[in-house]
Amino acid sequence: MARLEIQQIPVLNDNFIYLAREPKSGAVAVIDPALAAPVLERAAQLGWRITYILNTHHHADHVGGNLEIKAATDCTVVGPGHDPDRIPGMDIQVKDGDSFDLGGARAEVLFVPGHTRGHIAYWFKDSAALFCGDTLFSIGCGRLFEGTPRQMWASLERLRALPAETQIYCAHEYTESNIRFALSVDPGNAALQRRAAEVKSLRAAGRYSVPSLMGDECAANPFLRADAPELAAAVGMKGCDPAEVFAEVRRRKDVF
Ligand SMILES: [Zn+2]
Repeated sequence: MARLEIQQIPVLNDNFIYLAREPKSGAVAVIDPALAAPVLERAAQLGWRITYILNTHHHADHVGGNLEIKAATDCTVVGPGHDPDRIPGMDIQVKDGDSFDLGGARAEVLFVPGHTRGHIAYWFKDSAALFCGDTLFSIGCGRLFEGTPRQMWASLERLRALPAETQIYCAHEYTESNIRFALSVDPGNAALQRRAAEVKSLRAAGRYSVPSLMGDECAANPFLRADAPELAAAVGMKGCDPAEVFAEVRRRKDVF
């Protein structure tokens, strides 16, 4: 299977849009275009012809460029069939367990509700690439705008079960503020301390902290550790249901 070539485009305050190209067929997908102009400009510079838009969820900073890119390129818009009415220009609806072929690169669609009720992620297994929108961030997770803590915990449990070498292409550079919060609830976690030092030096050098590796996130991200006894104890919930521990950690982040 062909491995994707991936470009990362920073836009707005802290969003990332991704371009992914399958080199044998030349098929190119834009993932979560907040805006059109920076995407069209980057594709033109690279000589890449956009054939698809892949949306993870309906928020404006993920679909804002859909219609303009579609008009400019005649691409096909793929999005969550769990949320059929809120994706501008959607042509193909995909649901949990479906696959999507970007040329010779196959993505598995994972339904990961919580941030929104229809949120999906695209996992390109052979490229070890996960496009997860606003569900999982480096050392964080999305806010629960439309879902319950239990739904989000179940979604994160699915994502953390992916291979450790999976690169997490999330949609925001939130890592530094996520780390400040994470250290407040999990201060003794050596993996988190290592990640904090790594991100500090990356950001000081003007580099992104995204993508990150699933294996590192499983060890350091408190939102993936709601079933770790030491985290439950740190929030005063020793022995509690992990979904309830997750809810408490998320609540604390909301007011941090
Ligand atoms: Zn969002």
